[in-house]
Amino acid sequence: MTTDDPQFDFDFIVIGSGFGGSVSALRLVEKGYRVAVIEMGRRWAPLSFPRNGWSIHRWFWRPRFGLRGFFNMRFFRHATIFHGCAVGGGSITYAATLLAAPDKIWEAGSWTGLANWKVEMPQHYETASRMLGVTQNRILGPADLLLKKTGETAGSGQSFYCTHVGIFQPREGESPNQTVPDPFFGGAGPPRTTCTACGGCMMGCRYGAKNTLDLNYLYLAEERGAAVFPETKVVDVKPLAGTNDGSAGYEVSTINSTAWLRSKPRKLTSRGVVFSASSLGTMELLFRLKEIGSLPAISTRLGKHVRTNSESIIGARVPGCADDLSQGIAIGSGIYVDEYTHIEAVRYPNGADLLGLLTTFLTDGRPGPQRIGLWIKNGIRSLLRHPFKTLRLISPWGWAREATILLCMQALEGHLEMRWERLWFWPFSRTLVSRGDKVQTYIPQANEFARKFAQLAGGTAMSMLPEILFDIPGTAHCIGGCAIADSPDRGVVDHHHRVFGYRNMYICDGSVLAANLGVNPSLTITALAERAMSFIPTAPQTDWNDVASAA
Ligand SMILES: Cc1cc2nc3c(=O)[nH]c(=O)nc-3n(C[C@H](O)[C@H](O)[C@H](O)COP(=O)(O)OP(=O)(O)OC[C@H]3O[C@@H](n4cnc5c(N)ncnc54)[C@H](O)[C@@H]3O)c2cc1C
Ligand code: SF4
Repeated sequence: MTTDDPQFDFDFIVIGSGFGGSVSALRLVEKGYRVAVIEMGRRWAPLSFPRNGWSIHRWFWRPRFGLRGFFNMRFFRHATIFHGCAVGGGSITYAATLLAAPDKIWEAGSWTGLANWKVEMPQHYETASRMLGVTQNRILGPADLLLKKTGETAGSGQSFYCTHVGIFQPREGESPNQTVPDPFFGGAGPPRTTCTACGGCMMGCRYGAKNTLDLNYLYLAEERGAAVFPETKVVDVKPLAGTNDGSAGYEVSTINSTAWLRSKPRKLTSRGVVFSASSLGTMELLFRLKEIGSLPAISTRLGKHVRTNSESIIGARVPGCADDLSQGIAIGSGIYVDEYTHIEAVRYPNGADLLGLLTTFLTDGRPGPQRIGLWIKNGIRSLLRHPFKTLRLISPWGWAREATILLCMQALEGHLEMRWERLWFWPFSRTLVSRGDKVQTYIPQANEFARKFAQLAGGTAMSMLPEILFDIPGTAHCIGGCAIADSPDRGVVDHHHRVFGYRNMYICDGSVLAANLGVNPSLTITALAERAMSFIPTAPQTDWNDVASAA
């Protein structure tokens, strides 16, 4: 049964179609609500993804410059943040690693004690895992085997594991690239094709083997009637009919996100709103809405406790390598170097060589001019001693086939603050800026591991150029900023994800996470969204008066 209130265009408007947004859309539509999902990015089909890394207009998202891909990079003083932008959110570009966070995360941060998390969460992780088709990776490529061997040499071999992933793999003995009717949802989902181990997951799966949200949660939501508006950006959300708290519903204003000239402004109304625009996207939107007076009561804790998982990207390149290191799935395996330091073997598909321009020789040392000096010295020395080998090493051509990225994540407490300020070189409008202590870019254990890895592979260890030159780490795991807490003095939403100060307004995305996970966050975001949606009554039972409770 669905509600049919002609006063509103929809019952719920969900902003963003990533993990939190897709879960919300499906669960709300199942409860009988009329749901719209507004998504800034484009809708993708397998064969529309870029064939190689040089096809940047189909890969990167900068619509003003004609780049209408699904991968965005945002540059801040403390981190370069990578995130997805598409129907299906970050799932379109993510590596499909789906790991449950350790229980200790519920004992740190502002969500501690607000629920019996350790008892409640396993069922939601289980549902999230089933929906996202999580399974253990069975496809070990040459880079994974090298990771294992390096771990054994370094004394941490026992912690090697094959990642849990949302990828449809062929069964033992079956050949890859086989299309079969929906294997996940009893025939209610789309047909699927088995993985070919091409390593292309982060450039969009051209085979339809990655379990992206448009093939599970969002697909099912649309089948049940949710309306998805692609290439549509939400620019305003304000309470209707002169109320301050949204008890009379909301007006959501949108524009076309890819148009150069005519942005086609539009207004939609709904009784409830779910912000699911990702940690960065939701913070940015809420800061703006607070500034222009649309949602002035949003907590002043907005933008606090933003975390990046303390990451460092290193790696190794093996020019002329006999094996194709791009073979396998994007993140096939991982290892724990010590209690806090976790390294994953990452790859891009053969031909995705553009990222090679960002890698350089591994350089140790504390960040700053000394490290840059050491990097220049090492470079000159290497050029003088082995000119051809050095040029071969820094040339992008063949990079993806010859290189393995080692993604190092540390589960150490540390966070940034995001603020809404004017930049000195652009005082005309405010924008998101990062503040706080520098995030560490040099993790000595990670460099040591990369060196061993390169030695075993017969290659050279690599660092990321921006980490050395600017001391700015890159991260694909920006979380927090609208943390779950007991009151607006400590966070932005309560433990049912209801926004303090407003009615029938929720946040379901990575921004609500209140602790550093130490593992990739998507499964936890999905499980938390499942939990949040489980508290919303069905459409016939709602009195449209859901309000955050301060403990
Ligand atoms: C290259 C890469 C690899 C990754 N690999 C992994 C991995 O293997 N495992 C893992 O767990 N995580 C991985 N991540 C991180 C993962 O993608 C994110 O943590 C996850 O997608 C966050 O989910 P979310 O629900 O918070 O929002 P998202 O999935 O980011 O979705 C938010 C959506 O909202 C849309 N949006 C934003 N603002 C607006 C607006 N104003 N109007 C309309 N729409 C808007 C965006 O376009 C986006 O599609 C990876 C990320 C990247 C970039
Ligand atoms: S390895 Fe290739 S086929 Fe397999 S999921 Fe990733 S992109 Fe798709």
